[in-house]
Amino acid sequence: MKNRIVYKLKQGGFLLLLGILCISCEKNPITLVLHEPIFPSGSQAVTYTAERVTAGSITTAKLYETVNTINSSGVVTSTGTETLLQTWNNPSGDLSFTKPSGHGDNKLVSYRWVFTTPDQTKSFNVTYATRPYPVTDMPAPVYAQGDPDNVFDMVFIPDTDITNINTFYTNCRGAIRESFFDEPQTQFWRRQYNFYINTQTGHATDYDRRTIDGPHQLPSNNANLSFAEGRALMHQGNLRDWASGGVFSTEMQNRGTILHESGHSLYSLADEYGSGSHWQEAEVPNNWSSLAGAQADATGYGSCKQASDAVEMGSSGWYHLCVANCQMVTSGLNHTEYDCPCKSRITYVVFDNASN
Ligand SMILES: [Zn+2]
Repeated sequence: MKNRIVYKLKQGGFLLLLGILCISCEKNPITLVLHEPIFPSGSQAVTYTAERVTAGSITTAKLYETVNTINSSGVVTSTGTETLLQTWNNPSGDLSFTKPSGHGDNKLVSYRWVFTTPDQTKSFNVTYATRPYPVTDMPAPVYAQGDPDNVFDMVFIPDTDITNINTFYTNCRGAIRESFFDEPQTQFWRRQYNFYINTQTGHATDYDRRTIDGPHQLPSNNANLSFAEGRALMHQGNLRDWASGGVFSTEMQNRGTILHESGHSLYSLADEYGSGSHWQEAEVPNNWSSLAGAQADATGYGSCKQASDAVEMGSSGWYHLCVANCQMVTSGLNHTEYDCPCKSRITYVVFDNASN
């Protein structure tokens, strides 16, 4: 009983914290900044884009770039100077700028967008490496924003079955833009992710053939990937995907599978379908071991949930509150959205990650 009270207080305090934070929420327009190709060769042109995903005016936009040279240990051997690439005054629509010649080999490129709007000034800082990446046995950052200790780290690992590596790169960018930067809750927290591409390959096995084919074949540098909460083994063939050895598999074009599996690996969300993996997290769970527990916690989500939303998942003996198409119920080609209990847990883990 005492534990229950403590938990409710923690959850209540947590929701209160969210309420306070919303005062400083990002004002419109919501902008997504990205580059293309996501992992360019040293000679490839790179286009920077700022996409306006909500309406709203921008008074001034500025795009800066810094190019550093690194060696095989990842040490910066030559530090570049930050250069203003372009200024836009009262621009409409989306913004883009192309750097026509490449940045050269062994480069770490950082770019910084600064948007001044009538309501606020906001900036986005992104770092990416050029190809080939010189740092021995480490994944190349392709969209890095923060200290790996404070944000989520997601490594994309190419499967040996991929016949065109450029298709893989395109799908890595697609996973960033069309999964993490598209689903509303992960879009809201988009500054909390670092994305990497691994040079070493792995090979996914099929869940239904695991007794024959064994677990996933891990990349040779897998021990160096332990810093990453998410390791996605992206393959071309059609498999029943699963996780083994700390690595989850997904067809490289499946925007829903990568979000579902990230739900497990990044935020410790449990499955919300009857035959899945079920457990109840001590704080802000999305699965409950009893109907009464789920009903009691329903009040913690404001008007989003009520006790009558608590239902058993299949005949598992486990209960959830989310809608039937919550991303933790489904996976596949297209993503859905995380429902309120899952959203709350994501936000909880964002803060936990940033403060520990
Ligand atoms: Zn859910």
